[in-house]
Amino acid sequence: MPERNRNWRGLPAECWDVLMGTLVHQRVYGIAGAFCTELARAEIERLERLWSVFRPDSEVSELGRRAGERPFSVSPETSAILGLASELRAFTKGAFDVTAGAAVELWRRAAASGRSPTASEVTAARALIGECVLEVSERTVQLRRRGQRLDLGAIGKGYAADRCVSIYLQHGIRHGMIDLGGNVAVVGGAPDRSAWRIGIQIPGGRRGEYFGYVEARDCSVVTSGNYERNFELDGRQYSHVIDPRTGWPVPCDALSVTVMHASSAYADALATALLVMGRDQGFTFAQDNDLDALLFDRRNLRVTAGMARAFHAA
Ligand code: AMP
Ligand code: MG
Repeated sequence: MPERNRNWRGLPAECWDVLMGTLVHQRVYGIAGAFCTELARAEIERLERLWSVFRPDSEVSELGRRAGERPFSVSPETSAILGLASELRAFTKGAFDVTAGAAVELWRRAAASGRSPTASEVTAARALIGECVLEVSERTVQLRRRGQRLDLGAIGKGYAADRCVSIYLQHGIRHGMIDLGGNVAVVGGAPDRSAWRIGIQIPGGRRGEYFGYVEARDCSVVTSGNYERNFELDGRQYSHVIDPRTGWPVPCDALSVTVMHASSAYADALATALLVMGRDQGFTFAQDNDLDALLFDRRNLRVTAGMARAFHAA
């Protein structure tokens, strides 16, 4: 390939959309840049239609309605993400669990109504969490018990980012970036061939207030915070992330977790899992498992050896 084609010197195709309940930003360099952003947008919309808990016609909603009753034939993507989720649940010892759906729904309703759930409601929702996706045959699945619900909110955006990266690569893109509300995935380096710099927001700070950045090439960087999308009940702050071991939201103590991984789905799920484990246990788990992760609670910054090579304080 001639040298002049190696680097794209023109303007990137750039777009912003609200998809999967978040602001999606794409910046893609190259001849096929604009075409790729269109394809990627359509792909995210397609996955959202399959997985949204807010759409009664999604496969995830249908699986919930059939829980404990009848199996359902799902798309290859749903089958794939459920397989991945099952592996990640085992790897994180249950800190990440897509069957936390009933508890997520219980706390979402509580946040909307302003009424705390009773202890027995939490216990009942907790009892519905666990390895329960029954594979009847290839691509035919069923939730084991009535009342069980799936929630792919902690992995779906990452999976979608991976799909978008595949689209960029298929079209020969060498420099590109997609950000689905904190789930960033990049192709190659930045167009000047330096690494992409991904800013890490100060927990609880304003958008654009960074305490450092991660240098990334051909990988994904995902940040999850227990201060995000939080809500107040009876004067207490609750996080949008549930501890599957208790059915309660994790404490809302301004902890932010960033994970870097070749796959955005893994980075997404692992960031949520480390948040559930908390500052100390989460860091030990990340270190023991050789993950590239950093945890910051506005006082203590903990960076694993792998992440230390990529992270720079602002
Ligand atoms: P994230 O923003 O990636 O940390 O994902 C949080 C979202 O995933 C929540 O809004 C819920 O929809 C769902 N969720 C909450 N707790 C968990 C959990 N422990 N495991 C898997 N999904 C969860
Ligand atoms: Mg996540």
